[in-house]
Amino acid sequence: MSNKEAGNSARDPLAETHELMTPEVPHGIDRRSFLMRSAVGGAAAVMTGCAPKPDERAATAAATAKPEAPAAPGPSEPPLSADLNVVLKGKGPVLTTVEEFYKVGPGPSSSHTIGPMRITYDFYQRATKLPADQLAKATKLQVNLFGSLSATGKGHGTERAALAGLVGHEPATVDPKFLDGLRDKPDQVFPVKLGSKSIDVSLKDVIYDATKGDFKHPNTMTVKLLAGDQVVLEQEYYSVGGGFIEWKGYTPPKKNDPKYPFRTMKELRTHADTTKTTIGKIMLANEMSITGKSEAEVYAWVDKVINAMVATVKSGLAMPEDDVLPGPIKLHSKAATVYTRAMDDKYQADRGIGVLSAFALAASEENGRGHLVITAPTGGSAGVMPSLVYGLLEVRKVDRQKVREGMLAAAAVGYLCKHHATLSAAEGGCQAEIGVASAMAAALTATVFDAPSLVVENAAESALQHHLGMTCDPVAGYVQVPCIERCAFGAVKAWTAYAIASNEIASRHRVDFDATVAALAQTAKDMNTKYKETSEAGLALSVVLC
Ligand code: SF4
Repeated sequence: MSNKEAGNSARDPLAETHELMTPEVPHGIDRRSFLMRSAVGGAAAVMTGCAPKPDERAATAAATAKPEAPAAPGPSEPPLSADLNVVLKGKGPVLTTVEEFYKVGPGPSSSHTIGPMRITYDFYQRATKLPADQLAKATKLQVNLFGSLSATGKGHGTERAALAGLVGHEPATVDPKFLDGLRDKPDQVFPVKLGSKSIDVSLKDVIYDATKGDFKHPNTMTVKLLAGDQVVLEQEYYSVGGGFIEWKGYTPPKKNDPKYPFRTMKELRTHADTTKTTIGKIMLANEMSITGKSEAEVYAWVDKVINAMVATVKSGLAMPEDDVLPGPIKLHSKAATVYTRAMDDKYQADRGIGVLSAFALAASEENGRGHLVITAPTGGSAGVMPSLVYGLLEVRKVDRQKVREGMLAAAAVGYLCKHHATLSAAEGGCQAEIGVASAMAAALTATVFDAPSLVVENAAESALQHHLGMTCDPVAGYVQVPCIERCAFGAVKAWTAYAIASNEIASRHRVDFDATVAALAQTAKDMNTKYKETSEAGLALSVVLC
């Protein structure tokens, strides 16, 4: 007999435990203190069999709870301007597309290499369009890096990426050897052709400027074309995470409406469930309506990304075990070693986790070398998705079409995190990079194995949840420690999240994805700035390099 059938007199007070808590915390009351008192009231009700109504219990709890402490002052507040599109966009439907999201470019950091290269390339393009008489006066090009770009840019090779864009290289097509050459011979000078004028540029024209200040975004930079002391053209830019860029006065490009507009995972999943299809197929329909592309064109891009991910794992695994990554850490490559051991039959029981880790290490080490990687969602996290893509395609030999749909479902997870929280470690720490990547990889895996949309959501939620609070503290400013191993952990956690989500009773999963994204945003806001890609704290402080 159910509780309802039994009526209130025989009601089991433990059967409806959610009623024992009072979820609404009154304004101005300390949440923890209030909930504890409310719970104590609920527990007393269970023991005595006398349950006051929730509103009566709330009144009692509020009367005895501590007043809310004033909000902690500013050091952890990210310096984000409210008029940045990356902040404003959270209000409308998700309009991001896969071509914007999955970007191919040189590692090691989407915000510190791909973003700055896109920025200086954008400036170079603008400068070429100036009237001939203005260009004739120009004498110098100058890039100034601020905030996190200045604090950790040297470890990321930001100056080389910025110079490459200025001389006309784009991230997707730049030869990593060009960037390696700049590292090996930093005094090289390059002529930049602007109309009839040719201006010489070198790494000396990229200036590491103030690390602290009143910037619109922690990754701010300016690019100038000068005629002596006079400014011919100047633009302030922001590398807002995942290789996305904005500038002062930026307005997002006009796009068509999505076929299935959504702002949240709940809305996205409702579309999938009511139309009896998958999240991946809803994303395909949206991609086609927003961009006007055909299904074949969308999948052609997705295939390019899949192939690039497979290639990055292959080239990482092919590197010799004694290879040393660039930079002062002198970190040895370990992908091939881990892979070889995992494939040894003596350790067969460990093989799954071993090879998944090796694939992630391989792609992430390629990122550390500054070779081409794919932002999924960022360069630092560029080992996570390729690990699962490679494992599913090359080891499990799953149907490629399933992986394509999985890539779209994974993109949806990344879009939602970008839309409501951040993909930038300078705004939110590593939870925004590896955490999001792991959630994406969990959604990919669940989609590939034909999981229902709720399981896809639950897998992504679980992977993201277990990265909340993770800080960004790269040693010596290089995307190597903790980043490379962290990609392996992100990949394994993605698999674990899928394993749990596909084995539990999906409807009993207690936390929804949107709540976890809200927690990601709030944690990002509250995190101390020292842990946001500044290399001022954590491992960056405790690890001593000799
Ligand atoms: S610690 Fe995480 S967020 Fe920071 S650079 Fe490394 S991978 Fe990126």
